[in-house]
Amino acid sequence: SLAHLTTGAEVRAADRAHVFHSWSAQDAISPLPVAGAEGSYFWDYDGQRYLDFSSQLVFTNIGHQHPRVVAAVQEQAGRLCTIAPSFAVDVRAEAARLIAARTPGDLDKIFFTNGGTEAVEHAVRMAKIATGRPKVLAGYRSYHGATSGSIHLTGEPRRWGADTGMSGAVHFFAPYLYRSPFHAVDEAQECERALAHLAEVIAYEGPGTLAALIIEPVIGSAGVHVPPDGYLAGVRELCDRHGIVLIFDEVMVGFGRTGAWFASDHWGVAPDLLTFAKGVNSGYVPLGGVAIGERIGSVFAERPYPGGLTYSGHPLACAAAVATMSAMADEGVVENAARVGADVLGPELAALAERHPVVGEVRGMGAFWALELVRDRETREPLVPYAAAGAAAAPMGKIAAACTSRGLWPIAAGNRLHLAPPCNVADAEVKEGLAVLDEALSVGDGLI
Ligand code: PLP
Repeated sequence: SLAHLTTGAEVRAADRAHVFHSWSAQDAISPLPVAGAEGSYFWDYDGQRYLDFSSQLVFTNIGHQHPRVVAAVQEQAGRLCTIAPSFAVDVRAEAARLIAARTPGDLDKIFFTNGGTEAVEHAVRMAKIATGRPKVLAGYRSYHGATSGSIHLTGEPRRWGADTGMSGAVHFFAPYLYRSPFHAVDEAQECERALAHLAEVIAYEGPGTLAALIIEPVIGSAGVHVPPDGYLAGVRELCDRHGIVLIFDEVMVGFGRTGAWFASDHWGVAPDLLTFAKGVNSGYVPLGGVAIGERIGSVFAERPYPGGLTYSGHPLACAAAVATMSAMADEGVVENAARVGADVLGPELAALAERHPVVGEVRGMGAFWALELVRDRETREPLVPYAAAGAAAAPMGKIAAACTSRGLWPIAAGNRLHLAPPCNVADAEVKEGLAVLDEALSVGDGLI
Protein backbone atom coordinates (compact mmCIF):
# COMPACT_ATOMS: atom_id res chain seq x y z
CA SER A 1 0.00 0.00 0.00
CA LEU A 2 1.05 3.59 -0.57
CA ALA A 3 -0.88 4.85 2.47
CA HIS A 4 2.30 6.09 4.13
CA LEU A 5 3.07 8.32 1.13
CA THR A 6 0.40 10.98 1.21
CA THR A 7 2.29 14.26 1.43
CA GLY A 8 4.91 15.78 -0.82
CA ALA A 9 7.43 15.68 2.00
CA GLU A 10 6.86 11.96 2.56
CA VAL A 11 7.20 11.17 -1.13
CA ARG A 12 10.37 13.20 -1.47
CA ALA A 13 11.93 11.61 1.61
CA ALA A 14 11.05 8.13 0.36
CA ASP A 15 12.53 8.98 -3.04
CA ARG A 16 15.75 10.25 -1.49
CA ALA A 17 16.04 7.12 0.64
CA HIS A 18 16.28 4.64 -2.23
CA VAL A 19 15.91 6.12 -5.72
CA PHE A 20 19.11 6.76 -7.67
CA HIS A 21 18.52 9.52 -10.23
CA SER A 22 19.89 9.99 -13.76
CA TRP A 23 22.68 12.47 -14.50
CA SER A 24 22.80 13.74 -10.90
CA ALA A 25 25.03 14.05 -7.88
CA GLN A 26 22.67 12.17 -5.59
CA ASP A 27 23.14 14.42 -2.58
CA ALA A 28 22.59 17.59 -4.59
CA ILE A 29 19.03 16.97 -5.78
CA SER A 30 15.57 17.53 -4.39
CA PRO A 31 13.07 16.18 -6.93
CA LEU A 32 9.63 17.77 -7.12
CA PRO A 33 7.04 15.29 -5.78
CA VAL A 34 4.32 14.94 -8.42
CA ALA A 35 0.83 14.00 -7.27
CA GLY A 36 -0.92 13.82 -10.63
CA ALA A 37 -1.23 15.03 -14.20
CA GLU A 38 -3.81 15.59 -16.89
CA GLY A 39 -3.62 17.01 -20.39
CA SER A 40 -1.05 19.81 -20.51
CA TYR A 41 -0.66 20.08 -16.71
CA PHE A 42 0.88 18.20 -13.80
CA TRP A 43 0.72 19.18 -10.14
CA ASP A 44 2.43 18.69 -6.81
CA TYR A 45 1.04 17.77 -3.39
CA ASP A 46 0.65 21.39 -2.34
CA GLY A 47 -1.81 22.33 -5.04
CA GLN A 48 0.70 24.01 -7.37
CA ARG A 49 -0.11 23.25 -11.01
CA TYR A 50 2.50 23.36 -13.77
CA LEU A 51 1.80 23.96 -17.42
CA ASP A 52 3.99 21.28 -18.99
CA PHE A 53 6.06 22.98 -21.71
CA SER A 54 8.59 20.17 -21.42
CA SER A 55 6.22 17.32 -22.29
CA GLN A 56 8.39 15.73 -19.57
CA LEU A 57 11.46 14.73 -21.60
CA VAL A 58 9.66 15.70 -24.81
CA PHE A 59 7.54 12.57 -24.90
CA THR A 60 3.94 13.26 -23.81
CA ASN A 61 2.96 14.33 -27.32
CA ILE A 62 -0.74 13.73 -26.59
CA GLY A 63 -0.50 15.10 -23.05
CA HIS A 64 -0.99 13.34 -19.75
CA GLN A 65 -3.64 10.69 -19.05
CA HIS A 66 -5.23 10.67 -22.48
CA PRO A 67 -8.37 8.61 -21.80
CA ARG A 68 -8.11 6.48 -24.95
CA VAL A 69 -4.54 5.47 -24.20
CA VAL A 70 -5.22 4.81 -20.54
CA ALA A 71 -8.21 2.64 -21.52
CA ALA A 72 -6.18 0.75 -24.12
CA VAL A 73 -3.47 -0.10 -21.60
CA GLN A 74 -6.07 -1.19 -19.04
CA GLU A 75 -7.90 -3.30 -21.61
CA GLN A 76 -4.68 -4.94 -22.79
CA ALA A 77 -3.63 -5.62 -19.19
CA GLY A 78 -6.87 -7.50 -18.67
CA ARG A 79 -6.45 -9.46 -21.92
CA LEU A 80 -2.75 -10.30 -22.19
CA CYS A 81 -0.29 -8.43 -19.99
CA THR A 82 2.85 -9.93 -21.41
CA ILE A 83 4.21 -12.49 -23.85
CA ALA A 84 7.68 -13.19 -25.20
CA PRO A 85 8.81 -11.46 -28.40
CA SER A 86 9.04 -14.70 -30.40
CA PHE A 87 5.25 -15.09 -30.58
CA ALA A 88 2.94 -13.40 -33.07
CA VAL A 89 0.58 -11.06 -31.21
CA ASP A 90 -2.28 -8.99 -32.63
CA VAL A 91 -1.47 -5.76 -30.80
CA ARG A 92 2.25 -5.88 -31.70
CA ALA A 93 1.48 -6.56 -35.35
CA GLU A 94 -0.99 -3.67 -35.41
CA ALA A 95 1.46 -1.27 -33.77
CA ALA A 96 4.10 -2.23 -36.35
CA ARG A 97 1.61 -1.76 -39.19
CA LEU A 98 0.59 1.69 -37.99
CA ILE A 99 4.22 2.78 -37.56
CA ALA A 100 5.27 1.39 -40.94
CA ALA A 101 2.34 3.19 -42.58
CA ARG A 102 3.65 6.52 -41.25
CA THR A 103 7.42 6.18 -41.62
CA PRO A 104 8.96 7.64 -44.78
CA GLY A 105 10.32 5.79 -47.81
CA ASP A 106 10.47 2.00 -47.75
CA LEU A 107 10.83 1.65 -43.96
CA ASP A 108 8.46 -1.25 -43.58
CA LYS A 109 9.75 -3.57 -40.87
CA ILE A 110 9.79 -2.59 -37.20
CA PHE A 111 12.22 -3.90 -34.59
CA PHE A 112 10.83 -2.92 -31.20
CA THR A 113 12.98 -1.82 -28.25
CA ASN A 114 12.18 -0.37 -24.85
CA GLY A 115 13.36 3.14 -25.63
CA GLY A 116 15.51 5.42 -27.73
CA THR A 117 19.01 4.39 -26.83
CA GLU A 118 18.37 0.74 -27.57
CA ALA A 119 16.93 1.75 -30.92
CA VAL A 120 20.15 3.63 -31.70
CA GLU A 121 22.35 0.72 -30.56
CA HIS A 122 20.46 -1.69 -32.80
CA ALA A 123 20.33 0.62 -35.81
CA VAL A 124 24.09 1.03 -35.58
CA ARG A 125 24.61 -2.72 -35.20
CA MET A 126 22.52 -3.36 -38.29
CA ALA A 127 24.49 -0.78 -40.28
CA LYS A 128 27.85 -2.21 -39.17
CA ILE A 129 26.84 -5.74 -40.10
CA ALA A 130 25.36 -4.64 -43.44
CA THR A 131 28.46 -2.69 -44.44
CA GLY A 132 31.23 -4.52 -42.60
CA ARG A 133 32.61 -1.09 -41.65
CA PRO A 134 33.60 0.04 -38.13
CA LYS A 135 32.86 3.75 -37.63
CA VAL A 136 29.79 5.98 -37.35
CA LEU A 137 29.37 9.70 -38.09
CA ALA A 138 27.30 11.89 -35.77
CA GLY A 139 26.89 15.60 -35.10
CA TYR A 140 28.61 17.48 -32.29
CA ARG A 141 25.28 19.06 -31.53
CA SER A 142 23.36 15.86 -30.95
CA TYR A 143 21.92 13.55 -28.34
CA HIS A 144 21.52 9.88 -29.25
CA GLY A 145 21.22 8.16 -25.88
CA ALA A 146 23.28 7.11 -22.90
CA THR A 147 24.31 3.47 -23.33
CA SER A 148 27.83 2.47 -24.29
CA GLY A 149 27.48 2.98 -28.03
CA SER A 150 24.96 5.80 -28.19
CA ILE A 151 26.66 7.91 -25.52
CA HIS A 152 29.71 8.14 -27.79
CA LEU A 153 27.60 9.15 -30.76
CA THR A 154 25.99 11.84 -28.61
CA GLY A 155 27.93 15.01 -29.30
CA GLU A 156 26.80 17.30 -26.49
CA PRO A 157 28.59 17.54 -23.13
CA ARG A 158 26.73 14.67 -21.48
CA ARG A 159 29.04 12.42 -23.48
CA TRP A 160 32.17 13.56 -21.70
CA GLY A 161 31.74 11.77 -18.40
CA ALA A 162 31.31 8.38 -20.09
CA ASP A 163 33.68 8.79 -23.05
CA THR A 164 36.07 5.84 -23.25
CA GLY A 165 38.01 7.41 -26.10
CA MET A 166 37.78 4.17 -28.07
CA SER A 167 34.37 4.38 -29.64
CA GLY A 168 34.46 4.53 -33.43
CA ALA A 169 32.25 7.64 -33.30
CA VAL A 170 33.33 10.47 -35.60
CA HIS A 171 31.79 13.91 -35.09
CA PHE A 172 31.01 16.65 -37.56
CA PHE A 173 29.33 20.07 -37.49
CA ALA A 174 25.78 20.32 -38.77
CA PRO A 175 24.36 23.71 -39.80
CA TYR A 176 23.89 26.37 -37.10
CA LEU A 177 23.67 29.73 -38.83
CA TYR A 178 23.39 31.81 -35.65
CA ARG A 179 26.86 30.62 -34.60
CA SER A 180 28.06 29.45 -37.97
CA PRO A 181 31.15 27.26 -37.74
CA PHE A 182 31.58 28.08 -41.42
CA HIS A 183 31.25 31.90 -41.19
CA ALA A 184 28.22 31.73 -43.44
CA VAL A 185 25.93 34.72 -43.83
CA ASP A 186 22.69 33.00 -44.86
CA GLU A 187 20.99 29.61 -44.71
CA ALA A 188 21.90 28.67 -48.29
CA GLN A 189 25.58 29.35 -47.65
CA GLU A 190 25.46 27.54 -44.30
CA CYS A 191 23.91 24.53 -46.03
CA GLU A 192 26.46 24.47 -48.81
CA ARG A 193 29.43 24.87 -46.47
CA ALA A 194 28.13 22.34 -43.94
CA LEU A 195 27.84 19.79 -46.75
CA ALA A 196 31.33 20.62 -47.99
CA HIS A 197 32.63 20.15 -44.43
CA LEU A 198 30.87 16.81 -44.12
CA ALA A 199 32.26 15.67 -47.47
CA GLU A 200 35.72 16.54 -46.24
CA VAL A 201 35.28 14.68 -42.94
CA ILE A 202 34.16 11.62 -44.92
CA ALA A 203 37.14 11.88 -47.23
CA TYR A 204 39.65 12.23 -44.38
CA GLU A 205 38.09 9.45 -42.27
CA GLY A 206 38.02 7.16 -45.29
CA PRO A 207 34.59 6.38 -46.74
CA GLY A 208 35.34 2.66 -46.59
CA THR A 209 35.57 2.85 -42.78
CA LEU A 210 32.18 4.52 -42.25
CA ALA A 211 29.21 2.24 -41.61
CA ALA A 212 26.59 4.87 -40.87
CA LEU A 213 25.75 8.51 -40.41
CA ILE A 214 23.20 9.22 -37.68
CA ILE A 215 21.43 12.56 -37.48
CA GLU A 216 18.34 14.05 -35.86
CA PRO A 217 16.45 15.65 -38.80
CA VAL A 218 15.58 18.46 -36.40
CA ILE A 219 18.21 18.44 -33.67
CA GLY A 220 16.49 18.18 -30.30
CA SER A 221 18.21 18.24 -26.90
CA ALA A 222 21.30 19.91 -28.31
CA GLY A 223 19.41 23.03 -29.33
CA VAL A 224 16.32 22.67 -31.55
CA HIS A 225 18.11 23.20 -34.83
CA VAL A 226 15.94 23.14 -37.94
CA PRO A 227 18.16 22.31 -40.93
CA PRO A 228 18.29 24.61 -43.95
CA ASP A 229 16.42 23.38 -47.01
CA GLY A 230 18.66 21.06 -48.98
CA TYR A 231 20.82 19.89 -46.07
CA LEU A 232 19.19 16.52 -45.43
CA ALA A 233 19.00 15.85 -49.18
CA GLY A 234 22.70 16.67 -49.42
CA VAL A 235 23.50 14.32 -46.54
CA ARG A 236 21.46 11.59 -48.23
CA GLU A 237 23.41 12.15 -51.43
CA LEU A 238 26.80 11.94 -49.67
CA CYS A 239 25.77 8.73 -47.91
CA ASP A 240 24.62 7.20 -51.19
CA ARG A 241 27.82 8.18 -52.92
CA HIS A 242 29.93 6.44 -50.28
CA GLY A 243 27.74 3.48 -49.34
CA ILE A 244 27.13 4.88 -45.85
CA VAL A 245 23.90 3.81 -44.14
CA LEU A 246 21.79 6.87 -43.29
CA ILE A 247 20.04 6.70 -39.90
CA PHE A 248 17.50 9.36 -38.96
CA ASP A 249 17.15 9.55 -35.19
CA GLU A 250 13.53 10.65 -34.77
CA VAL A 251 13.33 9.62 -31.11
CA MET A 252 12.55 13.18 -30.01
CA VAL A 253 11.10 14.75 -33.14
CA GLY A 254 9.02 11.87 -34.50
CA PHE A 255 5.28 11.38 -33.99
CA GLY A 256 4.04 14.90 -34.44
CA ARG A 257 6.51 17.03 -32.52
CA THR A 258 7.47 19.25 -35.47
CA GLY A 259 4.00 19.34 -37.03
CA ALA A 260 4.53 16.29 -39.25
CA TRP A 261 4.48 12.61 -38.33
CA PHE A 262 8.26 12.62 -38.78
CA ALA A 263 10.51 15.66 -38.92
CA SER A 264 12.16 14.35 -42.07
CA ASP A 265 8.77 14.54 -43.84
CA HIS A 266 9.22 18.32 -44.06
CA TRP A 267 12.05 17.81 -46.53
CA GLY A 268 10.88 14.60 -48.21
CA VAL A 269 14.12 12.74 -47.47
CA ALA A 270 14.00 9.10 -46.36
CA PRO A 271 16.75 7.27 -44.45
CA ASP A 272 17.78 3.61 -44.56
CA LEU A 273 16.94 3.21 -40.87
CA LEU A 274 14.85 5.38 -38.57
CA THR A 275 14.94 5.25 -34.77
CA PHE A 276 11.88 6.23 -32.73
CA ALA A 277 10.60 6.12 -29.12
CA LYS A 278 8.93 8.76 -26.88
CA GLY A 279 5.98 10.08 -28.94
CA VAL A 280 5.18 6.68 -30.47
CA ASN A 281 2.99 6.08 -27.41
CA SER A 282 3.60 9.33 -25.53
CA GLY A 283 5.75 7.39 -23.07
CA TYR A 284 2.79 5.81 -21.29
CA VAL A 285 4.68 2.48 -21.36
CA PRO A 286 8.36 2.33 -22.43
CA LEU A 287 8.67 1.70 -26.18
CA GLY A 288 11.10 2.48 -28.96
CA GLY A 289 12.27 0.86 -32.12
CA VAL A 290 14.02 0.85 -35.46
CA ALA A 291 12.08 1.17 -38.71
CA ILE A 292 14.00 -0.79 -41.33
CA GLY A 293 14.09 -0.32 -45.08
CA GLU A 294 14.78 -2.90 -47.76
CA ARG A 295 18.53 -2.24 -48.00
CA ILE A 296 19.11 -3.37 -44.40
CA GLY A 297 16.08 -5.62 -44.08
CA SER A 298 17.28 -7.80 -46.95
CA VAL A 299 20.58 -8.44 -45.15
CA PHE A 300 18.66 -10.28 -42.45
CA ALA A 301 16.21 -12.12 -44.70
CA GLU A 302 18.19 -15.32 -44.59
CA ARG A 303 20.85 -14.62 -42.05
CA PRO A 304 19.85 -14.28 -38.39
CA TYR A 305 19.92 -10.86 -36.80
CA PRO A 306 22.29 -11.07 -33.82
CA GLY A 307 20.25 -9.16 -31.25
CA GLY A 308 17.09 -9.22 -29.16
CA LEU A 309 15.39 -7.95 -26.03
CA THR A 310 13.20 -9.76 -23.52
CA TYR A 311 10.53 -7.08 -23.82
CA SER A 312 10.76 -6.34 -27.56
CA GLY A 313 7.24 -5.31 -28.56
CA HIS A 314 5.74 -5.60 -25.09
CA PRO A 315 1.92 -5.89 -25.41
CA LEU A 316 1.16 -3.05 -22.97
CA ALA A 317 3.54 -0.71 -24.79
CA CYS A 318 2.16 -1.74 -28.18
CA ALA A 319 -1.43 -1.24 -27.00
CA ALA A 320 -0.47 2.26 -25.89
CA ALA A 321 1.14 2.88 -29.30
CA VAL A 322 -1.91 1.73 -31.26
CA ALA A 323 -4.19 3.92 -29.13
CA THR A 324 -1.82 6.90 -29.31
CA MET A 325 -1.45 6.82 -33.09
CA SER A 326 -5.18 6.31 -33.55
CA ALA A 327 -6.08 9.15 -31.19
CA MET A 328 -3.53 11.41 -32.85
CA ALA A 329 -5.03 10.71 -36.27
CA ASP A 330 -8.66 11.08 -35.14
CA GLU A 331 -8.02 14.27 -33.18
CA GLY A 332 -5.74 15.98 -35.70
CA VAL A 333 -2.90 16.22 -33.19
CA VAL A 334 -0.13 16.49 -35.79
CA GLU A 335 -2.04 19.21 -37.63
CA ASN A 336 -2.55 21.00 -34.31
CA ALA A 337 1.19 21.02 -33.64
CA ALA A 338 1.83 22.48 -37.10
CA ARG A 339 -0.84 25.14 -36.64
CA VAL A 340 0.22 26.10 -33.12
CA GLY A 341 3.79 26.49 -34.31
CA ALA A 342 2.94 28.56 -37.37
CA ASP A 343 0.13 30.69 -35.94
CA VAL A 344 0.84 31.06 -32.23
CA LEU A 345 4.22 29.94 -30.87
CA GLY A 346 6.29 31.13 -33.81
CA PRO A 347 4.90 34.68 -34.08
CA GLU A 348 4.43 35.17 -30.33
CA LEU A 349 7.95 34.02 -29.49
CA ALA A 350 9.30 36.34 -32.17
CA ALA A 351 7.36 39.18 -30.52
CA LEU A 352 8.82 38.25 -27.11
CA ALA A 353 12.30 38.28 -28.60
CA GLU A 354 11.73 41.84 -29.86
CA ARG A 355 10.90 43.00 -26.36
CA HIS A 356 13.58 41.11 -24.41
CA PRO A 357 17.26 41.83 -25.08
CA VAL A 358 18.24 38.56 -23.35
CA VAL A 359 16.81 36.63 -26.31
CA GLY A 360 19.37 36.19 -29.06
CA GLU A 361 17.51 33.84 -31.36
CA VAL A 362 14.15 32.08 -31.61
CA ARG A 363 14.01 28.88 -33.63
CA GLY A 364 11.80 25.86 -34.05
CA MET A 365 8.69 24.53 -35.70
CA GLY A 366 5.47 22.82 -34.69
CA ALA A 367 5.35 22.28 -30.92
CA PHE A 368 9.14 22.43 -30.60
CA TRP A 369 10.97 25.72 -29.99
CA ALA A 370 14.10 27.13 -28.41
CA LEU A 371 15.03 30.57 -27.16
CA GLU A 372 18.77 31.07 -27.24
CA LEU A 373 19.69 33.50 -24.46
CA VAL A 374 22.61 35.91 -24.70
CA ARG A 375 24.41 38.55 -22.64
CA ASP A 376 24.69 40.82 -25.63
CA ARG A 377 22.74 40.65 -28.85
CA GLU A 378 25.53 42.24 -30.86
CA THR A 379 28.35 39.92 -29.79
CA ARG A 380 25.95 36.98 -29.26
CA GLU A 381 27.89 36.05 -26.13
CA PRO A 382 25.85 33.20 -24.58
CA LEU A 383 24.11 33.95 -21.29
CA VAL A 384 26.10 31.05 -19.81
CA PRO A 385 29.20 29.41 -21.37
CA TYR A 386 29.05 26.07 -23.20
CA ALA A 387 28.70 23.18 -20.73
CA ALA A 388 28.37 25.61 -17.80
CA ALA A 389 27.67 23.97 -14.45
CA GLY A 390 27.26 25.14 -10.86
CA ALA A 391 27.64 28.89 -10.31
CA ALA A 392 28.42 29.50 -14.00
CA ALA A 393 24.97 28.17 -14.91
CA ALA A 394 23.15 30.21 -12.24
CA PRO A 395 21.56 32.79 -14.61
CA MET A 396 19.75 29.99 -16.45
CA GLY A 397 18.64 28.55 -13.12
CA LYS A 398 17.16 31.91 -12.16
CA ILE A 399 15.19 32.22 -15.38
CA ALA A 400 13.95 28.62 -15.14
CA ALA A 401 12.91 29.26 -11.52
CA ALA A 402 11.08 32.42 -12.61
CA CYS A 403 9.04 30.16 -14.90
CA THR A 404 8.40 27.29 -12.48
CA SER A 405 7.51 29.56 -9.55
CA ARG A 406 4.80 31.03 -11.80
CA GLY A 407 3.51 27.60 -12.88
CA LEU A 408 5.27 27.06 -16.21
CA TRP A 409 7.59 24.07 -16.66
CA PRO A 410 10.05 24.64 -19.55
CA ILE A 411 13.31 22.82 -20.31
CA ALA A 412 16.51 24.70 -19.51
CA ALA A 413 19.48 23.37 -21.52
CA GLY A 414 22.80 25.17 -21.83
CA ASN A 415 22.00 28.81 -22.62
CA ARG A 416 18.60 27.92 -24.00
CA LEU A 417 15.01 27.47 -22.95
CA HIS A 418 13.34 24.69 -24.90
CA LEU A 419 9.58 24.92 -25.20
CA ALA A 420 7.83 21.67 -26.09
CA PRO A 421 4.20 21.58 -25.01
CA PRO A 422 2.08 18.55 -25.85
CA CYS A 423 1.26 18.48 -29.57
CA ASN A 424 -2.45 18.76 -28.71
CA VAL A 425 -1.94 21.85 -26.55
CA ALA A 426 -4.78 24.40 -26.70
CA ASP A 427 -4.15 27.96 -27.86
CA ALA A 428 -5.30 29.31 -24.49
CA GLU A 429 -2.69 27.15 -22.76
CA VAL A 430 0.03 28.38 -25.10
CA LYS A 431 -0.97 31.97 -24.36
CA GLU A 432 -0.94 31.27 -20.62
CA GLY A 433 2.60 29.86 -20.94
CA LEU A 434 3.79 32.77 -23.07
CA ALA A 435 2.53 35.29 -20.49
CA VAL A 436 4.65 33.59 -17.82
CA LEU A 437 7.58 33.43 -20.18
CA ASP A 438 7.29 37.16 -20.78
CA GLU A 439 7.75 37.79 -17.03
CA ALA A 440 10.59 35.28 -16.74
CA LEU A 441 12.43 36.90 -19.65
CA SER A 442 12.15 40.24 -17.86
CA VAL A 443 14.03 38.57 -15.01
CA GLY A 444 16.56 37.46 -17.64
CA ASP A 445 16.87 41.00 -19.02
CA GLY A 446 17.83 42.09 -15.51
CA LEU A 447 20.72 39.63 -15.44
CA ILE A 448 22.59 41.05 -18.43
N1 PLP B 1 17.85 9.88 -29.49
C1 PLP B 1 17.32 11.09 -29.33
C2 PLP B 1 17.25 12.02 -30.49
C3 PLP B 1 16.84 11.49 -28.08
O1 PLP B 1 16.32 12.72 -27.92
C4 PLP B 1 16.91 10.57 -27.00
C5 PLP B 1 16.42 10.95 -25.66
O2 PLP B 1 16.17 12.09 -25.36
C6 PLP B 1 17.48 9.32 -27.22
C7 PLP B 1 17.93 8.99 -28.48
C8 PLP B 1 17.58 8.31 -26.11
O3 PLP B 1 16.33 7.81 -25.78
P1 PLP B 1 16.10 7.07 -24.38
O4 PLP B 1 16.32 8.09 -23.32
O5 PLP B 1 14.67 6.59 -24.50
O6 PLP B 1 17.07 5.96 -24.31
